Amino acid sequence: MEVCRIVTCILLSFLVSTGTSAETAHAEINYDITVRIDPVARTIEGRSVITATTSEELTLMLGRRFETTHARVDAAPLGPSASTGGMRAWRIAGSQHMPRRIVVHWRGEFSALDTSLDHPQTLGRDIPASSDDGTFLPDSSGWYPYIAGKLASYRLNIELPRGQRGIVPGRLVEESESDEGYRARFEFLSPTGGIDFMAGPYKVETTAMRGVSGKSIQLRTYFHPQIADLAPAYLNSVKGYIELYESWIGEYPFTEFSVVSSPTPTGFGMPTLTYLGIEVLRLPFIRSTSLGHEVLHNWWGNGVYPDYARGNWSEGLTTFMADYAYKERESPDAAREMRRGWLRDFAALAPGQDAPLTTFTSRTHGASQIVGYNKAAMTFLMLRDLLGRESFDRALHAFWREHRFRIASWADLQRAFQAVSRQDLYMFFDQWLTRAGAPVVRIAEAGRTKSDSGYRVTVILEQNAPIYRLRVPVAIRTEGGEELHMLDLESDHQTFTVDMRVRPLEVTLDPDLRLFRRLMPDEAPPILRQIMVDRTTTTVLLPERGEARSAAETLAGKLQNRDLKLVSATDALPPVPALVIGLQEQVDGWLAQHKLPRRPDIVQGKGSAQAWTVSRPDGGMLAVVSARDAASLKALTRPLPHYGRQSYVVFDGAKAISRGAWPTRVQAIKLE
Ligand SMILES: [Zn+2]
Repeated sequence: MEVCRIVTCILLSFLVSTGTSAETAHAEINYDITVRIDPVARTIEGRSVITATTSEELTLMLGRRFETTHARVDAAPLGPSASTGGMRAWRIAGSQHMPRRIVVHWRGEFSALDTSLDHPQTLGRDIPASSDDGTFLPDSSGWYPYIAGKLASYRLNIELPRGQRGIVPGRLVEESESDEGYRARFEFLSPTGGIDFMAGPYKVETTAMRGVSGKSIQLRTYFHPQIADLAPAYLNSVKGYIELYESWIGEYPFTEFSVVSSPTPTGFGMPTLTYLGIEVLRLPFIRSTSLGHEVLHNWWGNGVYPDYARGNWSEGLTTFMADYAYKERESPDAAREMRRGWLRDFAALAPGQDAPLTTFTSRTHGASQIVGYNKAAMTFLMLRDLLGRESFDRALHAFWREHRFRIASWADLQRAFQAVSRQDLYMFFDQWLTRAGAPVVRIAEAGRTKSDSGYRVTVILEQNAPIYRLRVPVAIRTEGGEELHMLDLESDHQTFTVDMRVRPLEVTLDPDLRLFRRLMPDEAPPILRQIMVDRTTTTVLLPERGEARSAAETLAGKLQNRDLKLVSATDALPPVPALVIGLQEQVDGWLAQHKLPRRPDIVQGKGSAQAWTVSRPDGGMLAVVSARDAASLKALTRPLPHYGRQSYVVFDGAKAISRGAWPTRVQAIKLE
């Protein structure tokens, strides 16, 4: 199973309109909230005192499912509200009388927590839900009255029945449990974007560490009893990550970090905590991957806030300094495999399906993740290759110092890197951020001649329009080894010469895959993800009726997550990606009838079902899913969508027993 598919975090964030910026570390808006929550009855009763030290007009919001029982602005009652979507909004006229004091008492009911939801569904929901087993009130649900589009600080008192523990981002100031129930007080005194509330029958483990400046940092796990034994290992890992990023970037900006378990398969990052599904926390690799990513978001995302209107840079930088950095620590090969995966995923998108990085806000579907996380991470890698590790890290320190608890944009990052490197990076940032797509680079020709001092290699590089300014790594192989040269490509067709003492044998383009580009077909053999993300994909369902037909239909729907474009089994395939699903004999017959390569040896005769990709003679790609019987086909519905990065997978029931990607071939020219 791939990590990114199960727990790609989403910063539960707010959209702040441009122009709103937290210029100081003191919020203009402060909430003092007390809530009593009953997870079983699914009720909330709350009162909030909102203090505003701004004279401008404000909009007060509250989820529509809640009712106010008392609401005043200073001495006057709150006026009538307007409804937009699931929210109610009150306009509060500007006033020179400051601070203004808005008091709201409210109450209401939550939905029942639905633990059958899968990850994409839980990500898309902004519904407050509770049960004995867990309560999650996302900020976006409007579970407490808030001022729209404003960063705010808060104090929050929680009251819960005995046995339950509740948590919100921020510092736990005090807590107590008695026969009457559990009480806790949290505060978050820096301006922040919103409050997400979590509760459950948690067992809490605590440990403390000293930060780089000597500050005490409280580390906690809020785990369901069934995973309580995982707490020590998680606490230990969190400590390691905080140490790593304090030495890399700067002081951890908060006084605590908690790992909180969720009965639904979520993966959320918030300031001072991460909220991860119980099943996710059980996965052995989460501690060495996603956990570090979530801890790092306390610097990028929840420490410096992205300027969403101009593009969210925080996922790319977090992916680069967490997921990718861990691969680099593991080995150069592991890091290259991650880059290969990113480029392969990008190559699986249809041209025009991606968007410029400046338009990425958060992950909503596969294509936006491939750009917002992976292309952005690779952009940081190319930048580090350009500036050197030392300058790159110094720029990040400066960016952190300057923008802590403020909104910052890609332009602020560019300024930080320019100031440290003293280079004009306008072209670099402009081409990688404002353009969709990727450069297409080819070796058009390469040759070798004798020269006085040895040999001269001539390489002609070509790129498609629009023209990028690129440093293209080109390797020249000799009998003694390989020499890497960086060629500055600035036009569509450019000739380079390299003088060498020893006899050059072969020229290879970007053998280490350090350049973000659209791979050529041989460099990117087809993977299953292509038919998931490419919206032009056509589908052929071979079973005509019965259980096999409905299993095939369900599977196709799950893989594509959109209306299917069906073609019949006898029709010729249009020149777009295609998915064919059927039982074993139907599949073999169909492949033969369409003169397509037969079942590859690596999957032949193995397991109860197989999926593989084929490069078609007409240039299109094909994904084939073949099962022994209807039950084996049905068993693929849940697992198969997780194997998008593979070229083939063999299943025994719902369990993948073998998988892999077809080998890639780099662009190389032998010198004669
Ligand atoms: Zn993230």
